[in-house]
Amino acid sequence: MIVTARRAKIVATLGPASRSLDMITELARAGADVFRFNFSHGTHADHKETMEMVRKVAHRLRRPLAVLADLQGPKFRIGQVKEGGVLLKKGERIVLDMHKTPGDWTRLPLPHKIVFEALKPGDDILIDDGKVRLKVETVGEYVATCRIVQSGMVSDRKGVNLPGTQLALSPLTPKDRKDLVAALDLGVDFVALSFVQRAADMAELRKLVAGRARVLAKIEKPQALDQLDEILDLCDAVMVARGDLGVELAPEEVPIAQKSIVRAARARGIPVIVATQMLDSMMVNATPTRAEASDVAHAAYEGADALMLSGETAAGSFPAESVAMMDRIIRRVESDPRWPELVTVEGQGKEDRDADPIALAATVAADASRACALIAYTATGSTPMRLARERPMQQLVALTPDPAVARRLALVWGIMSRIAPDPTGIEDMVAHASAAASNLKLGKKGDRLVVVAGVPFGTPGSTNLIRMARIGG
Ligand code: PGA
Ligand code: MN
Repeated sequence: MIVTARRAKIVATLGPASRSLDMITELARAGADVFRFNFSHGTHADHKETMEMVRKVAHRLRRPLAVLADLQGPKFRIGQVKEGGVLLKKGERIVLDMHKTPGDWTRLPLPHKIVFEALKPGDDILIDDGKVRLKVETVGEYVATCRIVQSGMVSDRKGVNLPGTQLALSPLTPKDRKDLVAALDLGVDFVALSFVQRAADMAELRKLVAGRARVLAKIEKPQALDQLDEILDLCDAVMVARGDLGVELAPEEVPIAQKSIVRAARARGIPVIVATQMLDSMMVNATPTRAEASDVAHAAYEGADALMLSGETAAGSFPAESVAMMDRIIRRVESDPRWPELVTVEGQGKEDRDADPIALAATVAADASRACALIAYTATGSTPMRLARERPMQQLVALTPDPAVARRLALVWGIMSRIAPDPTGIEDMVAHASAAASNLKLGKKGDRLVVVAGVPFGTPGSTNLIRMARIGG
């Protein structure tokens, strides 16, 4: 049997519904490639325990599984409200201040000094994922008077979004800094930062991470879209964080933003994750809505590197079913005869950036020779990522001596990774590649392979060799 792997990867968020050895095993078996730890919830001790579980599952299943630590970022919330909730009516005025007394229909506590320092008349304030909308009229010292633009109930500790307000704050809150230290101690593969506003935010994260993990920007602020290129210059990966993005932007803007971010990331060859509400109704139902199935399919046709499950796997009633469903939808798309063309069309613009002659030549050679696989030796992961950027139809295999490299490639479109020592010479390289292809059941004896490597072996940045080979006996 010839095996074809799913090309778009699956990120599953772990939470109360899935934080056990059995459930993590089930999620991985169902197809999860990367596990997200949401640092908005759980203690450091919880995350440590979960990390040990993920590594154990990876070891047992003999598969590289990556871990992504998601830092909460500057998330604002209103304080307490009298009797737990109050109805705000359109047209009326409401005052926001920093007093600790529970709010009512005349005023609400907003315990964030930094917000009052940045608010301007005309700014929008969105409460509870945009269900209630206020417009700022006047701003005083740690007090703001607002007009209610959209009615709704407001209850204790609901989230606040400020789409147009440029906050003069470090992107990493004191909590994020502590969480970052804990995440790096755990040895996570990726660190994601929420509510990135500008390139300087990523520069600061990079400095603190200091090479101990790869860094990822969650694009969920309209400001970040205006500076997308500068932000991506400092990212190893990026997330289309449609939850908060969809609160801060009008709904019709979200698909357009998704397309811009996916294309920009593909042009650079950095992995892009499409996230949030992909199979949301599977929180409570065993099957998704047709629109959700279509959303997952669209991201796969778009050539996104990975699709993410949030509440579905963290807190839903059907975590493993959600992963299995996402896996099925992606595989179905990838078997559609239109898929190769659509993935290529969606990659437009990539030609303009950093053409990579070896990656290009290797994919052309693989096509022309009807190879069953493209196999890359890699010390840093960069060669297989350059190949993946071309979105070749042959199976991509990365061979690396470094388990950390194998894990991070779990986020990248199309790449299967295996641990292998650096070859001792060209014949050894071909023998390893052929053995890997046959173990992975990518082809049968005599089928062609294209092998890419750098000589001398094991030297980062030395990719200079394309070798045609055949699966041996
Ligand atoms: P969150 O980020 O789940 O941490 O809010 C993702 C999003 O906003 O889409
Ligand atoms: Mn978010």
